[in-house]
Amino acid sequence: DSSAQDSLYFESYADVTIHEEMLADTVRTDTYRRGIFRAGEQIQGKAVLDVGAGTGVLSVFCAQAGARKVYAVEASSIAEQAARVVRLNGLADRVEVIRGTVESAELPEKVDVIVSEWMGYALLHESMLNSVIFARDRWLRPGGLILPERAELFVAPINHLVAEERLSFWSMVKGQYGVDMSCMTDFARSCIMNGEISVQPVSVEDVLSHPCRFGMLDLHTVTPEQLKRVSGSFCCRCFGSSSLNAFCVWFAVTFPGEDGTQPLVLSTSPFKPETHWKQAVLYLDEPVDVVQDTRVEGSISMFPSEQSSRHICIHVEYTIGEHKQKSKTFSIPDWG
Ligand code: SAH
Repeated sequence: DSSAQDSLYFESYADVTIHEEMLADTVRTDTYRRGIFRAGEQIQGKAVLDVGAGTGVLSVFCAQAGARKVYAVEASSIAEQAARVVRLNGLADRVEVIRGTVESAELPEKVDVIVSEWMGYALLHESMLNSVIFARDRWLRPGGLILPERAELFVAPINHLVAEERLSFWSMVKGQYGVDMSCMTDFARSCIMNGEISVQPVSVEDVLSHPCRFGMLDLHTVTPEQLKRVSGSFCCRCFGSSSLNAFCVWFAVTFPGEDGTQPLVLSTSPFKPETHWKQAVLYLDEPVDVVQDTRVEGSISMFPSEQSSRHICIHVEYTIGEHKQKSKTFSIPDWG
């Protein structure tokens, strides 16, 4: 049931480890910091709602950027630490930590700005965006600012070498111990290249074509209804000869630019410095050979799992060159 799932979800944020990982991710945290400070003019003297404040870092950034009042709403017990961080930084008069879900929070006023770091693996895992939408519809003044304001999804065919190396391991057992285990390769393939969304770093050399954007969410207008299925099509052409063994999915979120400046992008692309989100790798059952200009096209849809609405599933339909169309559905494994 969903309230039991929510308690489990919030408990996962009660421990220090996850907050340590997020704060240690300097790409993530610095981009938010810059995104908040460049919106300084719209934050000065205004009221801000931080949806899922965690340790309070984004709330403190907003106060430092001149906010009159920041409501730091956090459902998990990490809220107690956020309150201490706020006090330590001398901001207790301007940052109010509210322990509870944003869905149940009562604020004394509407806000001019919403800030939130809601992105999960493959963007939509954890389904926290629904809470940001709720907060927007309930508490954001018309014309208010949402940081970040846009999210995009990308896909590229890859040859994930790390996985192929794991498979070739079974052919090397004989050299080490005199026992031929090469027959294990197919079994290993079926275990590794299963229907799980594998969160791993993908390197630039693995990527077989230009990336293709298949989804875009405007945080000002997106609805919970639309999040029930986020889908789009893609079409790529391979750079050269290789073996395509997976699709790689990642996201970027964008902070608005100041007048005349470029928007600021927090990207989790394999072409950019690694973040704690890494990339989502979707292995095919079997690798497929490609050559220069082989067309790889299809469609992707992302939807919450029927068992657990916070778990994301990804369905891919694809055609590689002259091969017949195939499809595969992937889900997030149970880590806990
Ligand atoms: N803003 C912090 C934490 C981001 S992680 C940072 O940038 O470091 C997301 C946080 O949102 C978690 O602490 C989680 O407990 C909280 N959260 C998720 N959904 C929420 C909801 N509906 N109401 C309140 N808090 C929520």
